[in-house]
Amino acid sequence: MAPTQLQDIVSQRRAERSAAPRKPAPHNWLERRAGGLRVLQVAAFAKLPWLVHGFSTREGGVSPLGAEKVLNLGFTDWDARKNVSQNRQLFQSALGAKTLSLAPLKQLHSDLVRLFEYAPQEAEHGDAAVTNRPGVLLAVQTADCVPILLVDRKKRAVAAIHAGWRGTLRRIAAKAVGHMHMHFGSTPADILAAIGPAIGGCCYQVGTEIAADFLSQFADAPDFFDEFRTGDEPNPVQWLNQMPPGHQPPPKNVLLDLHKANHSQLRATGVADKNIFISNLCTACRPDLLFSYRKQGAKSGRMMAAIGIRI
Ligand SMILES: [Zn+2]
Repeated sequence: MAPTQLQDIVSQRRAERSAAPRKPAPHNWLERRAGGLRVLQVAAFAKLPWLVHGFSTREGGVSPLGAEKVLNLGFTDWDARKNVSQNRQLFQSALGAKTLSLAPLKQLHSDLVRLFEYAPQEAEHGDAAVTNRPGVLLAVQTADCVPILLVDRKKRAVAAIHAGWRGTLRRIAAKAVGHMHMHFGSTPADILAAIGPAIGGCCYQVGTEIAADFLSQFADAPDFFDEFRTGDEPNPVQWLNQMPPGHQPPPKNVLLDLHKANHSQLRATGVADKNIFISNLCTACRPDLLFSYRKQGAKSGRMMAAIGIRI
């Protein structure tokens, strides 16, 4: 695609966006408060009596962070393992998933999808997991990356996905749907998807080389990006100009909307738009509620998104 065509597309989308009415807060998201914790859930998931699921926030927990006690659910340098284990138990209780066995992953920003028939003793490498076995609580950890939970209402199967920019580019969400189809015979039309809190298109600055990677992979990639504006750009769409090096200043960073990219990816697999529930929370905008690695760096905690089938 010629750069001018891309510029046209971006300008057109921008005009459409500014003309569209502001999106109301998604009514399909719920807050569950239990044991001092605040857990986010999707109403359509919560309706399924055989399912447990939830996205953690930083509230509650026993991990000391400054003057606060927070719910850190990942093993980080600044926190003790016993705190994290205790927090995980608190989180499982708050979800009503105390009797399920937690199956976390050693995440590596890959497109590796694991099939769990039971929760392994040691966390295994991977960035998504699928199961149809009751009693296995799939979980991914995030602090900016996108946590995604999937459930097949008919076949009773679930998936948990960790999608940062690398995993999104490698289509990990689509691959998880593929694994559900392969192992459980899931049809995308029966799948519900919850795309949880992550760093938003408002805050997630990335280099233009990442935009180029996405543009080479996804036809609708111009939709995922916005200009990062400092207010003094001579050319508002400078980042799309493919000028030879040395003829203009280095390209500006751009803003990437990972929620949109994953939404689009799930739709492309056949998951119905009405069955995709996207949180409007940005980790970087809400340090009071969520952890953000970009905002808090090494001192950031980890949130967890978990899903499982009751025993
Ligand atoms: Zn933000």
